[in-house]
Amino acid sequence: MFIEINNLCKSYKSEDIETIALKNANISLNKGEIGVILGPSGSGKSTLMNILGGLDSADSGEVIVDGIDIVKLSDDELVEYRREKTGFIFQSYNLIPHLTVLENIEIIQNISKLPLDINEVLESVGLIDKKNRFPRELSGGQQQRVAVARAIIKNPAILLCDELTGALDYESAIDVLSLVQEINRKFNTTILIITHNAAIGEMANRIYKFRSGEVKDYIINNDPIDAKGVEW
Ligand code: ADP
Repeated sequence: MFIEINNLCKSYKSEDIETIALKNANISLNKGEIGVILGPSGSGKSTLMNILGGLDSADSGEVIVDGIDIVKLSDDELVEYRREKTGFIFQSYNLIPHLTVLENIEIIQNISKLPLDINEVLESVGLIDKKNRFPRELSGGQQQRVAVARAIIKNPAILLCDELTGALDYESAIDVLSLVQEINRKFNTTILIITHNAAIGEMANRIYKFRSGEVKDYIINNDPIDAKGVEW
């Protein structure tokens, strides 16, 4: 397995209150697969994604990525892992408003060891003719396409998407999901998508249903469909 999360536990303590975010969560994905994590708000989805993305630490358990347990990495190694291996896309696009589309992507390209060609990426996300526009001049769907381009320019092994279609209308959401699927097919990127929307599970190889920090259900989908066919 390319990603193997075993018995992952995490709790947050503030003042005297302890909140258990993850209780022995297990997830696995092969290289080039798409996984979807479903679950209500507060069920631990983002906590798991943040730990897998090297943004947060675990209390116990293993998070093995490409043979390395990232729970055991030093802070410096974790920075390196985050920079080289992971791309993030969030519900809010988080673009830098005073930089153009091209510049928003270039700032990540400049700190990557083996980045993809920026024109190829702009072509892939369908924004080559918008490269000199500012984010405010683009629709929500187009801004999310820039966020996808910025996340993949470093050619990450793992693409982590947290409610990436949460702010989009149906048409734009399908458009962005199709783009993510194209990236998956073209670059063999392993992708994990967090969503409230069960329909998105239809395009995934594996679906994990979270409740109260635990994986309550796990489905292997042997016949993932084209994102264009996902309906809700
Ligand atoms: P989800 O992504 O499914 O909405 P989260 O992973 O964000 O769930 O949260 C899981 C639980 O952990 C929730 O009860 C949440 O309030 C708590 N939690 C998450 N992050 C923190 C934090 N930094 N400090 C305290 N509690 C947190």
